[in-house]
Amino acid sequence: MVMARERLYLFDTTLRDGAQTNGVDFTLADKLTIAGMLDELGIDYVEGGYPGANPTDTELFASDRKLDTTFTAFGMTRRPGRSTSNDPGLAALLEAKADAICFVAKSWDFHVKVALETTEEENLASIRDSVGAAKAKGREILLDCEHFFDGYKTNPKYALACAKAAYDNGARWVVLCDTNGGTLPHEVEKIVGEVCKAIPGDHVGIHAHNDTEQAVANSFAAVRAGARQIQGTINGLGERCGNANLISIIPTLKLKREFADKFEIGVSDGGLKELVHISRKLDDMLNRAPDRYAPYVGESAFATKAGIHASAIVKDANTYEHVVPEQIGNRRKLLVSEQSGKSNVLAELERIGIKVGKDDPRVVRLLEAVKEREAAGFSYEAADASFELLARRVLGTVPNYFDVAQFDVNVEQRYNAKGERVTVTMAVVKVKVGEESVISAAEGNGPVNALDLALRKDLGKYQKYIDDLKLIDYRVRILDGGTEAVTRVLIESEDGAGERWTTIGISPNIIDASFQALMDSIVFKLVKSKAPT
Ligand SMILES: [Zn+2]
Repeated sequence: MVMARERLYLFDTTLRDGAQTNGVDFTLADKLTIAGMLDELGIDYVEGGYPGANPTDTELFASDRKLDTTFTAFGMTRRPGRSTSNDPGLAALLEAKADAICFVAKSWDFHVKVALETTEEENLASIRDSVGAAKAKGREILLDCEHFFDGYKTNPKYALACAKAAYDNGARWVVLCDTNGGTLPHEVEKIVGEVCKAIPGDHVGIHAHNDTEQAVANSFAAVRAGARQIQGTINGLGERCGNANLISIIPTLKLKREFADKFEIGVSDGGLKELVHISRKLDDMLNRAPDRYAPYVGESAFATKAGIHASAIVKDANTYEHVVPEQIGNRRKLLVSEQSGKSNVLAELERIGIKVGKDDPRVVRLLEAVKEREAAGFSYEAADASFELLARRVLGTVPNYFDVAQFDVNVEQRYNAKGERVTVTMAVVKVKVGEESVISAAEGNGPVNALDLALRKDLGKYQKYIDDLKLIDYRVRILDGGTEAVTRVLIESEDGAGERWTTIGISPNIIDASFQALMDSIVFKLVKSKAPT
């Protein structure tokens, strides 16, 4: 007999709590894009923001959205000493075009006294009245019990009374917030267990912050104790150290038996495969480099370096992988480096789609080339596309698309007509494409930028293959290379379909190193696009 699985709900607050992150500033368009993405993923609740508190959120809630998710507005319960009909903040919240309202209220007696400067009873009345007013408006209601765990530790009776006031008056969910993020998993499990004796668990949610790096663990601890709603954000975005990371929570719920056998969530298997994409898309919007070491979705999450591991993983992936990377839209990566053996190289070639026999002498030659170049400062484990090109070159399958006959980069600092000191950078590149010679010039905000723009301005018949090429990250490291310092440049590129690759360049001269990495990126794109020669 198959046991019916219990429904577990996911609530995303990227647009509200996540928007409170240092340095994050979403536009209206950003918010709509993210909401659409979460909706498609199958997130049950999307908290859009704080209508009435700022123009973007007010506009967001006034806008037409076609979403299946329960789009939720966030705001405070009525202020102490006011009636619900005489509180402009509450009025804006009640008027907002939202499917649900998530109120935040104090549940720690210390905060009621010190921060709110009111009585415990007035705070309870404010919760009751606000929930009642939202109910009269026909909204689904959630109550975020702020500082619930800290409050519960000092005055469990009062913390619980706040939660009960909301539940008894018709709130669909009472959300227990670890607002300061300092509660530990065993404490969460114990306290949520006690709360669930007074309020049914399928009306209890958890909102964990990551200040002890246990927001994800705390969320699961709450679920184990009976809570049935998890609040979190994409990539764990959020104030201070962030919120519980839904990008880690979702795969665990779907792929780990303790949860998968017991619970059903709104995210389908197909949605799960989109996680890498969603995680990177948010980074993109925030102009952040993705965390390569992020669990499940990071570039390194399924990377294996040592040769002995690699040879085992090729035989059976279960030897070194806790889940199948493709389920989350990620992929296995066998790092090719100085330490790697033939099996890494063979496995990586197979993944790239290059067929070569196990005893082909060119494999040994490739391995030698990798070792030699890594000794000079290259690092292929960070530059998959440059490795692929090196492999294809050793195997003789990279066409000579074009030659850069000459380039010239000029940096000039001078006074402009307004008497301001400015730096002007200009690059000129002379390229030979077949019989055709092309000269392109471009100004940039630095030598590498100018060189990149000039190089990609006109590649003749190949131009159409690189039109959607975009540089998204540029990293420079100075390596201590004996007598002379060497510069290592890593460039991450992306195409129109969102596929990414990294290339590398090494030289004592930063322009040369950048040029190599740029060239590799362009040639890689041409190979990938199967550009005809
Ligand atoms: Zn929060």
